[in-house]
Amino acid sequence: MLPRHPMSEPPPKRAPGTVAVHGGEQRPHAADALTEPIAQTATYAFRDTAELVAHMEGRLERLEYGRYGNPTVSALERKVAELEGTQDAAAFTSGMAALVTATMALTRSGSHVVLFDDCYRRTRQLVTGFLERFGVSHTLLPPADVGALEGALRPETRLVIAEAPTNPYQRVLDLDELVRVCKPHRVKTLVDSTFATPVNLRPADHGVDLVVHSATKYLGGHNDVLGGIVAGGGSLVSLVRDLRHVFGAILDPHAAFLIARGTKTLALRVEQQNRSALAIARAFEAHPRVRRVWYPGLESHPDHATASRLMTGFGGVVTFDLVGDLASTGRFIDACRIPQIAPSLGGVESLIEQPALMSYFELTTEERAQVGITDTLVRLAVGIEDPQDLLADLRQALETG
Ligand SMILES: *Cc1c(COP(=O)(O)O)cnc(C)c1O
Repeated sequence: MLPRHPMSEPPPKRAPGTVAVHGGEQRPHAADALTEPIAQTATYAFRDTAELVAHMEGRLERLEYGRYGNPTVSALERKVAELEGTQDAAAFTSGMAALVTATMALTRSGSHVVLFDDCYRRTRQLVTGFLERFGVSHTLLPPADVGALEGALRPETRLVIAEAPTNPYQRVLDLDELVRVCKPHRVKTLVDSTFATPVNLRPADHGVDLVVHSATKYLGGHNDVLGGIVAGGGSLVSLVRDLRHVFGAILDPHAAFLIARGTKTLALRVEQQNRSALAIARAFEAHPRVRRVWYPGLESHPDHATASRLMTGFGGVVTFDLVGDLASTGRFIDACRIPQIAPSLGGVESLIEQPALMSYFELTTEERAQVGITDTLVRLAVGIEDPQDLLADLRQALETG
């Protein structure tokens, strides 16, 4: 028997701030350490042959080999499961490793997958490029268009992959509607909740089957480690974990320690990022050099009503379109002193990027316009710096850039 650790009974309901700190911790830790120790080991020793036989016969559940489980990794998995309100979770070396493993665990040759046009670029590549080679077909739906979902389902549809909020326009699809349409057809739902975090949105509370995170972003929160999570019901996560044993992309114990340590401050960080992002979005909406702002917390956002119903905070990413051109937008970014140019988001450092030069570099201006990416578009991933300092910096960059 391989080690399993779904929570046998639901823990008492605690607020995210408390769960972030204490969730998943099994007291006392080894050596009475206050914090979860790092079990930096590749394998586990059996006391004697009798113990080995008892384990192999399934009479004794214990750890066996590093690719199948690790106590530091399990502690992180329990913490995220409690934050998401799911029975179990499995941790991976990256968000993409989590997505690939979960998607392949739920599909087979002949299956059909539905996903949305504005999903993460590599998720799209996974389904439209890679899974296609294994006989898995797909349908792409317009951003947040749950209305088109019913018509896209086929008898062989196994999985719908969604994200909320999406990049870069922060679309928030109606998760209740997503689940309402999928459930009767027994189609599984997977939501990449990286941008939302369990502080702002808990997809499983709305009936979503699997919740995926790039833990590289908000969970880790410090731009210093890669990781991924799949959270959900015990039997589904168990399926995913069985494939993780084969693919081998289990999170490293040291990375698990860093992510769990980062997660302890998740609620504090995200609440601060929510506040800063909303303040910046409001200020930019009123600024003459800004053509348009996309932030689900603004009344002007197309999904403001849905986001207000589903989310307790609107997240730390603000997208805006500036007056000017590709070059002047680059000058604005270069004039920023606090946010740095880098892909990624969700960490303590503010990061800024021009999607035209990052994710959509290979496309011409015309091709970008077709997918809705203008040369003057900017994505700001707000960190935890002082909001007044951030706003002052962005304002001076708008004036001088
Ligand atoms: C970053 C990201 C991923 C991929 O995660 P990695 O940890 O980089 O593999 C997947 N989905 C979303 C929404 C992301 O932002």
